[in-house]
Amino acid sequence: MMSDMLKQYGEVIGFHAMDSLLAIAERLRGKKIVHVNSTREGGGVAEILSSMIPLSRELGLDVSWEVIEGDEPFFSCTKMLHNSLQGMAGGLSDGQIASYTETNHRNAERLKDYLEEADYVFIHDPQPAALLGMMPGRKGKWIWRCHIDVSAPNRSVWRFVKKQVEGYDASIFSLPDFAQPLPHPQFLITPSIDPLSEKNIPLSKAEMEKTYRELGVPRDKPVILQVSRFDRFKDPLGVIESYRIAREYVDIRLVLAGGGAADDPESGEVLSAVQEAAAGDPDISVLVLPPDAHRSINALQSGADVVVQKSTREGFGLTVSEGMWKRKPVIGGDVGGIRLQVINRFNGFRVRSPEGAAIRIRYLLTHRWKRERMGVNARQYVLENFLITGQLRNYLSLLVTLDG
Ligand code: UDP
Repeated sequence: MMSDMLKQYGEVIGFHAMDSLLAIAERLRGKKIVHVNSTREGGGVAEILSSMIPLSRELGLDVSWEVIEGDEPFFSCTKMLHNSLQGMAGGLSDGQIASYTETNHRNAERLKDYLEEADYVFIHDPQPAALLGMMPGRKGKWIWRCHIDVSAPNRSVWRFVKKQVEGYDASIFSLPDFAQPLPHPQFLITPSIDPLSEKNIPLSKAEMEKTYRELGVPRDKPVILQVSRFDRFKDPLGVIESYRIAREYVDIRLVLAGGGAADDPESGEVLSAVQEAAAGDPDISVLVLPPDAHRSINALQSGADVVVQKSTREGFGLTVSEGMWKRKPVIGGDVGGIRLQVINRFNGFRVRSPEGAAIRIRYLLTHRWKRERMGVNARQYVLENFLITGQLRNYLSLLVTLDG
């Protein structure tokens, strides 16, 4: 008997796809699988694990999720690690290396018996990567799951991380371009969205309209939407410029929605610049949403006419998949993971400038049939490639492959 949750996923992905997921899960019954990351909340990794763990359990797998405990110096060190692996200048100080090693040691002590017994351990990102070297009695296969772009890292920082991850049995990257040579098999698995989460479940038209009303966005003209943190790499000012150019030809509204991360001094600056650029234009709404506004974001995306993600740098844009899932063609920056998600003219357009984005906005708004067609393609593309069920199937297949 299939549980209610599996039935609901089955209704989305089709029962054939669900059967194949069940079949692969069957091969891993009785095996102990553990995921380890560094936070239970906030960020894409935690968001994916929050969906993947309950789904895995529902499939009968013995899976658990451990979070490493660290203090402020550790997290400032790992933030530095993260930034410098993505190319920012600056290395790690001796103090930071000591804090990294010491924190991993403390967590290794706490989790040792458990992790050494596990059949498969997924270690997410660099924060807990040193745990492997602290498990002399480990029995299972260990996989390093890297969610970040390490294609052009700071060399000294990469050498340090490489030492921690060389001993793994395999590693997983999100895109081929993100990887680095390592002495073990590497796999490519793209991140995914959960069709049953608050962010992505179907909403009624009434709820969608109510959300727009509550957020003060009239629905009198077509809505162009970008949801993202106020971060310069998301290029919100470029989006405003695109809107201004497009407006000369089509009457539209622009909505820029995102969180105001209090712990990120830069986001405040970017938000102020955006508010200044939007000032005096009643057709631009800059919405600062609380971190748990998943349902409001869902409503905004569901009610938009065109979704934009004009990033100038992007790992894998979850907002792109979210917009596509709501049958919106996406105009995305021609960078990073967006290149895998948006296929020009099929489910959206990739652009390199505000002028390019403006031309595509104008095109989509004046070609309704094309817009709807591309929206249908967008949804289908996410269904086939970027749902949590597919990502889990890929993870499980990898485990089966590792066992040879
Ligand atoms: N998001 C959110 N609130 C915000 C801004 C973004 O919940 O104010 C969500 C967004 O819906 C998506 C994720 O955060 O699920 C952002 O992922 P993405 O890969 O697009 O960008 P990142 O922020 O990881 O660079």
